[in-house]
Amino acid sequence: MRKRIIAGNWKMYKTAEEARSFTEEVLGKAPVSDNLEAVICAPALYLPELVQLTNASSIGIGAQTMHEADEGAYTGEVSPAMLASVGVGYVVLGHSERRQYFNETDAAVNRKVHAAFNHQLTPIVCVGESLEERESGKTVELVANQVKQAFEGISEDLAKTAVIAYEPIWAIGTGKTATAEDANEVCGAIRATIAEVYNADVADHIRIQYGGSVKPGNIKELLSMDHIDGALVGGASLEPASYLQLLEAG
Ligand code: 13P
Repeated sequence: MRKRIIAGNWKMYKTAEEARSFTEEVLGKAPVSDNLEAVICAPALYLPELVQLTNASSIGIGAQTMHEADEGAYTGEVSPAMLASVGVGYVVLGHSERRQYFNETDAAVNRKVHAAFNHQLTPIVCVGESLEERESGKTVELVANQVKQAFEGISEDLAKTAVIAYEPIWAIGTGKTATAEDANEVCGAIRATIAEVYNADVADHIRIQYGGSVKPGNIKELLSMDHIDGALVGGASLEPASYLQLLEAG
């Protein structure tokens, strides 16, 4: 039985005060369950404070991106060693917005997956197709290819602990959710790809989230599907009440 993982991705939203008051509000109210991991992926600036605030709670804290090197002359970047040093537990890698606006390639995502594991960070590896790719029937091929490249050279033991987020680009922030069946089909194809690259045991352990216009009103149906083990949520994770409803569905 895979433990569900529901993560909010705040993207570039919230002032320091908003980040603090959100976190204080959800603390203590977040459901505590052995079957659910709750995560907040916040802007890098707020990570140390959020780690401190959530220390004694069931909520984990994640970054939204990172550089692949431990340190170096990379002005403006944050390294995996830095994230680990402040107690961050997760990092989103290869989000479609990073791929689209910051030229993050599959090769770079792969280097970052290695770097995350080197620092005991759990990577949340994002994959997904554009509308054009979906309409031309290339979804499964494209997503399988993104998964293969992201996990190149990663051992079985580590791959088992990774999280993959299937986020169709056309469903992000658009209000268009993939149907639960369509999302499950692609998540199943991702699991089959992991079985092909590794084996059935790794495929059985790895957790696959769906992301793209997930809301309190549709999360239950998505989570009821065989291959969907959680959600990566943007807009609907920004308000405490809505974030808590998402967790309660887990
Ligand atoms: P929305 O939930 O706002 O569609 O964003 C999805 C997403 O990109 C999460 O990483």
